Amino acid sequence: MNIGEKREMICINCPIGCLLTAEMTGEGIKVSGNTCPRGEKYAIAEITHPTRTLTTTVKVANRDDTYLPVKTAEPISKEKLFEAMETLNSVEVNAPVKIGDVVFSRVCGEADVVATGNVD
Ligand code: SF4
Repeated sequence: MNIGEKREMICINCPIGCLLTAEMTGEGIKVSGNTCPRGEKYAIAEITHPTRTLTTTVKVANRDDTYLPVKTAEPISKEKLFEAMETLNSVEVNAPVKIGDVVFSRVCGEADVVATGNVD
């Protein structure tokens, strides 16, 4: 962002969904519209290093037509989401699997992928 440039975004940290405005100033990024400090942190992160939690499914190899819901344990760089999806498309796990099990270590070097469901 250049000085004077503004960007609007919705804060996704809670259901209120404040409309945030981030403006680049000579002193850095100035955020307005946030009802609490989390909004400021979110807006600055969205501009400097946007991240998202990836949720998807992986195939369960030893069960017919069964997929396990998974997510990254932490948000990963937004620019790595597509690469992470491609990686996870070829991952298969074996049941039993329970919530919280790590099914893939450090996808794209960023975060573990954990089960969000159980398969007996
Ligand atoms: S700024 Fe605070 S109150 Fe507003 S949506 Fe974000 S977390 Fe919720």
